Amino acid sequence: MSLQALREPVTGRSLRSVRPKPDTHAGSKAQTENQVPRIGKPPARALPRFPVGDETRAFYKRFYPGTTTAEWNDWRWQFRTRIRDLKELSRIFQLSEDEHAAVSRHEGPLPVGITPYYASLMGLNDPSEPLRRTHIMTGAEFIRVPGESDDPLGEDHDTTVPGLVHRYPDRVLFLTTGTCSTYCRYCTRARAVGNPGGEYQFSPKQWEQALAYIEAHPEIRDVLLSGGDPLSIADEKLDWLLTRLRAIPHVEFLRIGTKMPVVLPQRITKDLVKMLKKHHPLFMSIHVTHPKELTPEVSESFARLADAGIPLGSQTVLLKDINDDIAVMKPLMQGLLKRRVKPYYLYQADPIRGSSHFRTTVEKGLQIIEGLRGHTTGYATPIFAVDAPGGGGKIQLAPDFVVGRDGDDLLVKNFEGGVYRYPDPGGVLGADKAAR
Ligand code: SF4
Repeated sequence: MSLQALREPVTGRSLRSVRPKPDTHAGSKAQTENQVPRIGKPPARALPRFPVGDETRAFYKRFYPGTTTAEWNDWRWQFRTRIRDLKELSRIFQLSEDEHAAVSRHEGPLPVGITPYYASLMGLNDPSEPLRRTHIMTGAEFIRVPGESDDPLGEDHDTTVPGLVHRYPDRVLFLTTGTCSTYCRYCTRARAVGNPGGEYQFSPKQWEQALAYIEAHPEIRDVLLSGGDPLSIADEKLDWLLTRLRAIPHVEFLRIGTKMPVVLPQRITKDLVKMLKKHHPLFMSIHVTHPKELTPEVSESFARLADAGIPLGSQTVLLKDINDDIAVMKPLMQGLLKRRVKPYYLYQADPIRGSSHFRTTVEKGLQIIEGLRGHTTGYATPIFAVDAPGGGGKIQLAPDFVVGRDGDDLLVKNFEGGVYRYPDPGGVLGADKAAR
């Protein structure tokens, strides 16, 4: 089935006709973006029965009076009701002067975007609250420091056809869309997301080019769908793409990178998981930031995905004064594992332009790994990595537990700081360190 032939079930229009149209200012951009998933009356069977946390319920009764629980739990309602401008932000949040000025000044990609559900978890009166800091811009975003760039990972350099990054030998990054349900202020692809009509375009025509490239390269056995957020794409369209990828004999493994199960958990409908299940082996990497995100709603979205046999891994960006503390990171990692999500990667924040207020030292990341390793279940300890600026790829970093060598004995330190000997005749590891 060609993409052109795939019809939209609600309207009967060709999917090509729902491509976002270019526009130039933030207000109309918000409207255009909100049209990306098909809006309309969902079939009754698609309405999820999600739990609603107590604070979230109080929030929506206060700020969205008259909204029914069914509407609140409808991801399409959440998506089209996203908080996108200063007026709506000011209605809900007590903005600081700094936030107010920054939102007024901002233009271009990475606009404000917050689902009502995710806003319900934020501090309404506290600009220092962690989740709020990750989504409402401040003046610090306009400060540029050396070493920062728009494309710190050099993805554009490794882009083989538009939207397809081929850096590693056997796998590709497939950028499917520029749309997310929420926009994170530290986004690595800040240059490309939330900006329909801008420099970076995402369209079915590009998908065809990317598919043709993958078909022509038998060494590609692993495709990671990312963006933007691939789960902002309507089910039928995503099903079409996954089906096409699955039909390529050498593609063994599909992955989806997403933040939706956390910021818009209602997106994980029973229809979605039923569709995803058809495309195994399909893995999912879920972007999580803070234990505050682990609500009853998110527990439900994770459970639905896990019950569909989708292996779940997490990705967390280390963020200064937000989660760069073992007292925050440990309950986050343990909470994920409890919900069947394997903590997978902890990333040093990428040096995108205007991100210095989010970045912390690499030592801090190593200290967090040291605070997890041995102190909690090994499964709850993620890999710590720096994505090397300039396109070097992910480089794993780990605390050094080798303290020295004494003849044929390697001296190693355990998680409590005790030093032990391991018989290692013929080895040289540790010889360059003073034996203690
Ligand atoms: S959800 Fe992902 S792609 Fe979207 S803004 Fe956040 S980090 Fe960027």
